[in-house]
Parts: sequence; C-alpha cells; structure tokens
Amino acid sequence: MRIRGHVTAVAVALLLLAALLPTALAAGKKKPNPAPITRVFDLHCDTVYQGVTKGWDLKKNKGAVDLGKLRKGAYLAQTFALWTPPMGGWTYLKKLNHKFETWMTQYDGKIGLATTGQEILDREAEGRIAAVLSIEGLRPLDGEPEKIRALYEWGVRILGLTWWKSNEFAGSSTDPDEEKRAGLTEKGREAVRLANELGMVIDVSHASDEVVRQVAELSEDPFFATHSCARALKDHNRNLSDEMLKLIASRGGVVGVNTYVGFLSDDPAGTVKRSTYVDHVMHMVGVMGVDHVALGSDFDGAKPPMGLKHAGQMQLLAHDLLDEGLSQKDVDKIMYLNALRVFSQVTAKPGPAETLAGLAWPQPW
Ligand SMILES: [Zn+2]
Repeated sequence: MRIRGHVTAVAVALLLLAALLPTALAAGKKKPNPAPITRVFDLHCDTVYQGVTKGWDLKKNKGAVDLGKLRKGAYLAQTFALWTPPMGGWTYLKKLNHKFETWMTQYDGKIGLATTGQEILDREAEGRIAAVLSIEGLRPLDGEPEKIRALYEWGVRILGLTWWKSNEFAGSSTDPDEEKRAGLTEKGREAVRLANELGMVIDVSHASDEVVRQVAELSEDPFFATHSCARALKDHNRNLSDEMLKLIASRGGVVGVNTYVGFLSDDPAGTVKRSTYVDHVMHMVGVMGVDHVALGSDFDGAKPPMGLKHAGQMQLLAHDLLDEGLSQKDVDKIMYLNALRVFSQVTAKPGPAETLAGLAWPQPW
C-alpha cells in the first residue's frame, strides 16, 4: 500500500508538472520587466478625472496609473492634472481637487503632494512617491485670473493655459476658428504674470504657436509643454514644430513627450509601438538638446502605444534610450532630472541659484 501510495503521489506530481510546464515555458519566453535603472518624473496624467467619473481608485485600477504601477516603474514624481470637461466650471474643478486630496489623505503612507523641487526630494526621502498637481486649461476660472491664487493654495504648481478650444486666457492650437488661435488675451498676460509672481510653471501644451511665442517673450521663468509631440514626425497642430521646440529650449524650458498614438503617428492606433515614442524623444533631443526633453505620458487620458501602456512599463523606455546610444546620465535627464530642474527653479522663489544649492539629492546637472 505504501509503495502504491508513493507511486500514485509521484504520478500525480508528474501529471501536475506536465500540466504546468507549458505555462511555465511560455512565461519563460516572455521578456521579463527589466530592473529599474533610473527614476521617473511624468508631467501629465488624467487619472483624477477617471477617479471622479468612473470611480477609479489610486491604489489599484484598470488604467495606466495606480500606486502599484508607479512603484513598479520606479517613479520619483507623478503629475496629476485637474482637467474639467467642457460643461464643467469652477465647482467641477473643486470636485476634481477634492478627489485628489482624498487620495493623498487615504494613501498618505505611499504618496504625498509636493509643491517644490525640495518637497519632491523630501517625499523620496520618506519612501513615498511625490504627487505634483497641475491644471489643464484655465476655462473653469470664469475669466478671473485672481482665481489662480486659489489654485496655488490647493497646491497647483503647473498652470496649463488652455485645452482643445480657446478660452478667455489663450488661443488653442486646435481651435477650428483660426482667429481665436491668436495669442494671449489681456487676462492671459495677467495669468503669466501671476504664475511668475507665485512660482508656478506655465504649461503651453495645447496652446497655439502664437501663445508659445508670447509666453517665451513674456515669462521671466522657463516653462513646460507638459505633454506634446514633435510636428516634424507627425503633422498635427497639437504637436510642436521645431521652431517652437527651439524657442522653449532657448528659454530653459522642457517638453514632456506625449504617448498618445494619434500624436505619434499616422499609423492605425492599435499598431503604434513604443519605438515610435522613442523616435519623438530622439528627434527632440536632436532639435533642443538633451537638457530639454522629458516625459508627459497623458496616461488615462489617451491611448498609448504597444509596450508603453502603463506606468509600470516606463523602465522599458529607459532601456530603449540606452540602446539608442544615450549615456546613463542623459537617460536620467530625460526620465526625471530635466523636469525636476525646471520645477525646482520655478517653484522655489526667489531664484534658481538658491534652489539648486538647496537640493540635497542628487545634483548631476
Ligand atoms: Zn491634454
């Protein structure tokens, strides 16, 4: 009996092994997620909106950004945009901010608001992910620039002037009415002045070419295009021409490259790969220099390419950039240091020299 029992147990074990083996082999074939080689500072995602409209949770959701994916991607900082749909106003904006605040309280042990470069580094030292707050489009401000002070109180430090249509502040690159695409209004100029005064980074993604020119002229501080691609590779008004890219770089600014397939390529949405995203990054490096390119995923607001579907895959991109021949230091710049440099410079008044001197961790620039 004992022998028979033993043989039966072995047979069962072998059967089990045979059943599991194909799965194990298939899993072995799959390229494993590489070990993190750098950190990530992403300049744009729409996860808060998904939280408000679909009840997504920051801890875990079916989208591209949640705490597990951010941790897996070795994120230093994630920017959360407050984006108000066309029918929503100031009240809707407050609702978005309430959702963001709720998450920050709920997951206090894992993530926390950062309003300066130093605070990003503080979150890192605490073992937490830094959450940066931005607004995408000033339309919900009802044409009142002074409301920017309220945004500042909430912790907003990146100020997106406009969205898909022009508003009381600035012309949009995609406004069907060409006249409205013109530059900043008087209120828009006031918004730029206030951003400079308070220490908020202006964001020209979605803005018309003329707005980019005027911000470059008016703003005392460097600025972001938080989620924009290269027009030279994909002809779309929403993308930045080489002239715009050079202008942003000449003012010390940074462009976060968008993962949205519709801005990356003319190819059908489902066929665009991560390599096309790499092409946009490398084009911008060529045009602006490596000190001015960053990441602006637009996750949870737009469809990303294959192989770069969520925050947990960001380290794959870092490896791709190394494969392109960039040095580890240059990869670090693109993945997080450039965004951190400009964010630090602008948010900590009175000036960049003092800000950078105050940074305790790492100072490779
Ligand atoms: Zn956008």
